[in-house]
Amino acid sequence: MSFKSEINRRRTFGIISHPDAGKTTLTEKLLLFGGAIQEAGAVKSNKIKKGATSDFMEIERQRGISVATSVLAFEYDGIKINILDTPGHKDFAEDTFRTLTAVDSVIVVIDVAKGVEQQTEKLVEVCRMRNIPMIVFINKMDREGKDAFDLLDEIEQKLGLNVVPLSFPIGMGYDFKGIYNLWEQNINLFSGSSRKNIEETIEISDLKSEKLDTLLGTKAAKTLREEIELVEGIYPKFNREAYLKSEQQPVFFGSALNNFGVRELLDCFVEIAPKPRPKRSEERLVNPDEKEFTGFVFKIHANMDPNHRDRLAFVKIVSGEFKRNTPYLHVRNDKKMKFSSPNAFFAEKKEIVDISYPGDIVGLHDTGNFKIGDTLTEGETINYKGVPSFSPEHFRYINNADPMKSKQLNKGIDQLMDEGVAQLFTLELNGRKVIGTVGALQYEVIQYRLEHEYGAKCTYENLNVHKACWVEAKDSKSEEFLEFLRVKQRFLAKDKQDQLVFLADSPFSLQMTQQKYPNIKFHFTSEFE
Ligand code: GDP
Repeated sequence: MSFKSEINRRRTFGIISHPDAGKTTLTEKLLLFGGAIQEAGAVKSNKIKKGATSDFMEIERQRGISVATSVLAFEYDGIKINILDTPGHKDFAEDTFRTLTAVDSVIVVIDVAKGVEQQTEKLVEVCRMRNIPMIVFINKMDREGKDAFDLLDEIEQKLGLNVVPLSFPIGMGYDFKGIYNLWEQNINLFSGSSRKNIEETIEISDLKSEKLDTLLGTKAAKTLREEIELVEGIYPKFNREAYLKSEQQPVFFGSALNNFGVRELLDCFVEIAPKPRPKRSEERLVNPDEKEFTGFVFKIHANMDPNHRDRLAFVKIVSGEFKRNTPYLHVRNDKKMKFSSPNAFFAEKKEIVDISYPGDIVGLHDTGNFKIGDTLTEGETINYKGVPSFSPEHFRYINNADPMKSKQLNKGIDQLMDEGVAQLFTLELNGRKVIGTVGALQYEVIQYRLEHEYGAKCTYENLNVHKACWVEAKDSKSEEFLEFLRVKQRFLAKDKQDQLVFLADSPFSLQMTQQKYPNIKFHFTSEFE
């Protein structure tokens, strides 16, 4: 197959949802369609149920054994599909944000009873800001939930999307009878009483057909005809260009658990979802079909086995072909590196591959050379944008609890930060280290891992910070800026990239500071134009 057709047949996406909406179940059903797994239950949920560290450790341990779950790849209809796993737990939202830099599109799963939930809002906002094409899947139609039209309204209002239903439910909950497929203009009905079987679907190609009355009963058939007329009246026609620009979002209804409506989703997905897209770097726009390889690290997975301290760096291939045993430039370190055993991922396993294409993810064994956001190329200096740090929500001093082990502690902190577990800020005033996280759970995870993987002990001390603001000065020699540095010294720190950060202790003090120093910009993310 030619290089071009390899690119054209790849679809790399992520499934995002609030925990419990059905992401794992849907993923599993997609893999079943692809023949990538044989039975349900094969995909491990990465859910943190009790919100406890032990839970997280258990998940990490399992994942360590089967890191393949971070990327699930399968073939369907000649299309190579790569699903990137995104943690649903809010404490790991940053991990999900970073994974979203490596997808070309997403599927958003919404629980029909719960509607738009908090995590969905946050994640969709990030996708909207980055113009990532989205398809919405409304799940659990076998349960009583919100009225379809009300829910579509809610999605438009809360998520700021422009929805276009491409399938529509026939009934709901106990009365859920099937799906009208507006995309293919046919109907799939559950048959029999079990409502568990996908094979038992009946196709009707015309909404006017009398067969519909026979199957649904006159009343239900009438309701459906009216509803579809309403759908076609209210919502715009599907426009693929608008979807690709993230200006329009197709919606599907179904039940992942019962495997209903999933094939409709998948069939449409492979047809409309984008192939690998060009990516902006600081230097220029890079096209997938360029001959030279470029890629970037979006995730680092630690080996939880203390006897094997190596890590796996996940690289998204943006352009060219990635080949085994070929020297590539690690741009940040300005060093050539070769990889003798790059891993490719499949549904349940990983394998060494000789060649990978744009859209693919390769796992590279790493002994500490990589950081999230690092770029590999054939020699050109390219730095990919879009792997920013966000202001953490929680801040604590980290103290060394075992003076004999300060080296181990520093190394441990360093490596965990490179993995993106949390962010480190070093105070300008006294060099004290502050750890910033999205959720409180990470502090326990860091403590646990420092002890078990690096033999170091730490304690934490509270620190009152409202937000970390990355500082941008128009003129770093100006009176104003020098005064700011002097007056606010107590609140200044450097992040791991040596960027200056203002740790505002309250919304009020941030506001006052902004007013007092109008020529200084305060950003809530580490990357700005
Ligand atoms: P995740 O947290 O988004 O990965 O959600 P899961 O896939 O683990 O699903 C959460 C729960 O909802 C599980 O108990 C599933 O069995 C259940 N579930 C998923 N899809 C459906 C569905 O279509 N109908 C019903 N009734 N339950 C579902």
